[in-house]
Amino acid sequence: MIRRLILLALAPLALAAADPAAGVSRQAREAGLDPEQCYRVRDISFSKEDIRIYLTDGYLIFGRPVNGRRITAVFSADVEGGDAELLVMPPTRSERLSLATFTESPTLNEHFQSSVMIFTDDTAPLLAEAVQAAGAPKSPEMGALLASSSDSVVRNLVTSFEVRVTLDLLLGRSERGFFYSVVSTRRLGNFDMLLDPCAREQIAIGQVAYRDDRAFFDNWTVFQARSYRTGRKKPPSPDFDLADIRIEATLEQDLTLKARTAAALTPRAAGLNVLVFEMSRLMRVSEVRIDGQPAEFMQRESLRANMIRGGDNDLFLVIPPRELTAGKAARIEFAHQGKVVSQAGNGVYYVGSRATWYPQRGLQFARYDLTFRYPKDLNLVSTGEVVEDRTEGQWRITRRRTGSLIRLAGFNLGVYEQVSLDRGGYRVEVCANRRVESALQPKPSPTVLLQPQPSPFPRVPRRPSDLVIIPEEPPVPNPTTRLSHLAGEIATAFEFMGRMFGPPPLKTLTVAPIPGTFGQGFPGLVYLSTLSYLEPRERPASARGDLQQFFFSDILHAHETAHQWWGNTVLSASYQDDWLMEALANYSALLFVEKRDGGRTLETILGQYRERLLKKDQDGKTLESAGPITLGTRLHSSLTPDAWRGIMYDKGSWIVHMLRRRLGDAQFFKLLGEICRRYQYQTLNTEQFRAIAREFLPPRSLDPQLEDLFDNYVYGTGIPTLKLHYSVRGKAPALKLSGTVTQSDVNEDFRVNVPVEIQFGRGKSLVHWVHVSHEPAAFTLTLKQAPARVVLDPGEATLAKK
Ligand SMILES: [Zn+2]
Repeated sequence: MIRRLILLALAPLALAAADPAAGVSRQAREAGLDPEQCYRVRDISFSKEDIRIYLTDGYLIFGRPVNGRRITAVFSADVEGGDAELLVMPPTRSERLSLATFTESPTLNEHFQSSVMIFTDDTAPLLAEAVQAAGAPKSPEMGALLASSSDSVVRNLVTSFEVRVTLDLLLGRSERGFFYSVVSTRRLGNFDMLLDPCAREQIAIGQVAYRDDRAFFDNWTVFQARSYRTGRKKPPSPDFDLADIRIEATLEQDLTLKARTAAALTPRAAGLNVLVFEMSRLMRVSEVRIDGQPAEFMQRESLRANMIRGGDNDLFLVIPPRELTAGKAARIEFAHQGKVVSQAGNGVYYVGSRATWYPQRGLQFARYDLTFRYPKDLNLVSTGEVVEDRTEGQWRITRRRTGSLIRLAGFNLGVYEQVSLDRGGYRVEVCANRRVESALQPKPSPTVLLQPQPSPFPRVPRRPSDLVIIPEEPPVPNPTTRLSHLAGEIATAFEFMGRMFGPPPLKTLTVAPIPGTFGQGFPGLVYLSTLSYLEPRERPASARGDLQQFFFSDILHAHETAHQWWGNTVLSASYQDDWLMEALANYSALLFVEKRDGGRTLETILGQYRERLLKKDQDGKTLESAGPITLGTRLHSSLTPDAWRGIMYDKGSWIVHMLRRRLGDAQFFKLLGEICRRYQYQTLNTEQFRAIAREFLPPRSLDPQLEDLFDNYVYGTGIPTLKLHYSVRGKAPALKLSGTVTQSDVNEDFRVNVPVEIQFGRGKSLVHWVHVSHEPAAFTLTLKQAPARVVLDPGEATLAKK
């Protein structure tokens, strides 16, 4: 999901009132619509960057002022011949395609019946001016009607944006303000539109959609607004830096986590009067102090904002009690608590939130000092090296510190059995639960037998009917049986990757189980699906397919280990670049498997990935056609609920593999190491990845800019069917091999490079690369000896059907 409505605060407004945030937010919640400010409007139009709105015929009513500013308006076309229209043209082909996927049109040109608008930018004066210029008459009677029918909708929406609205009103800087509108149309239903100057991509249009009882936010189109594309405006940079994060946390017997988090906070500019943090919505702040003085804070649920913005974090505001000095570190302290720890039964626990369990701001690198106090019969693991570990009565106290800067600290707990291995200067500690969570605990399933006469089960008492129920005791999965094997595999993978990519962020890697089918990698700490701990026969039926078994037995632990580099050493620059981390992590796992089992295994897996990508849904669409990999989490929509995983992992691995085949092994491995070196603790985007990969291409490459690879496989969709026809004429040593490679099943503009291998009875094969487009690609080669076989792409250099 996309992070939008990114809140960044810096402003020179000094506030004298006590608890200003509480006052402003209460006003915003209670304001409602203003019947005295309702106008009969005709032919009013206004623009917000790429969004153009025409209020052709209807009524426009403003909300009552909050802190001196109007922040809401409602338009209704509920009159004879009433009408309004909206026009948005996404600036790029991929965004027009995305919009068309959801709306059947590459541009948004819709008539609408009504619209509720919330804004903290310059919309209020803009609309007021337009109303005045058009000489629109007031209509208090209609105002009263509209206020009574729409007030609750407006209040609800304002409540959804309460934190942001409060922030913007306190800042008082309209250039930082946002514009949001929910638009009601006949053809497309209700949809959301957001213009937020603090987001990386300021314009987002989409819709809440339901499928199989699940709610999705379908992102129809998301793009940079015009002023930002042209460079006229720049998104604001972070207001402050956080360093030296110190957390003292107590995990109570009932699993409530009570923590105090302290950090050094350095404002980048003067006059910072509101600070914005984010934290898991499962945690509540109870106190904030800055340099020892209590500070006002505001934390609210903001459901709609979260849905559009994505993620499990909530934003909260802190009002510094005194002016902060630019460049000078202040000490900020939070008391916070909540139930981030969940129980999966049988003594299996997990940190249930993928969000941050302590106050954070963006993903800034910092040093951590973490002390946990927890029931002594539990094991608790977290990021960092242990510097203190003792028991005090019923409690165990463990303190850890990180020697280097990391972007996020995690922890996990359970009743563990643990194996530690030292390998090549690294240490791996793998923890297993002693029992499986309830969901994996097999229920004794009564087996119903139709009992023939005479009974083959003489000891089972007879029943009146011939049915006998024999309770079958299934084997209880034991998550510790595979522990030593798993620890050995992870240690080998960690060492293998360390040699290939350079030093990991932390030298100790702790691996701990988490219920579910996935994992997550923090610096120095990996959550690994409990299924990876089980023997294949112990896994539930849903995980029993060949590829699934392989994933849990051989891929997932190596994939999560590889995230120490891809995601924790090198970071993804945005959701469009997340694929790099998933693809590189998964391909690193495949490299590890290849080293262990040989190249054939790698090709078999890639073949299975291709099959999965080509699998068709009920509408006959392949999984791969859901959209380009750069859509990232947007692939997870109501139209394609399963596409994200397949495209990120399977196609992502293919893209990296194709790159490898174009670079050659030696250059490819050099590239991976160089990325980790050059981008250590920095973000990497797709174009930077293309640029650095290009440096490692062999001379005379058919695709020297890697445009064929990236335009078609990264930024585009399609898996071509490739066919080779060839003939050999003449006599040795001047044989003429003539061939043609044709492509089908893809768009006209699809281009791909594919190797043709000419194998001889004796001596080395000859590889000839062919550039294929919608025209058949013909080639002619002179050969000294007759070929034994001519094969199209035997080493799987290209994702295609052959
Ligand atoms: Zn991953």
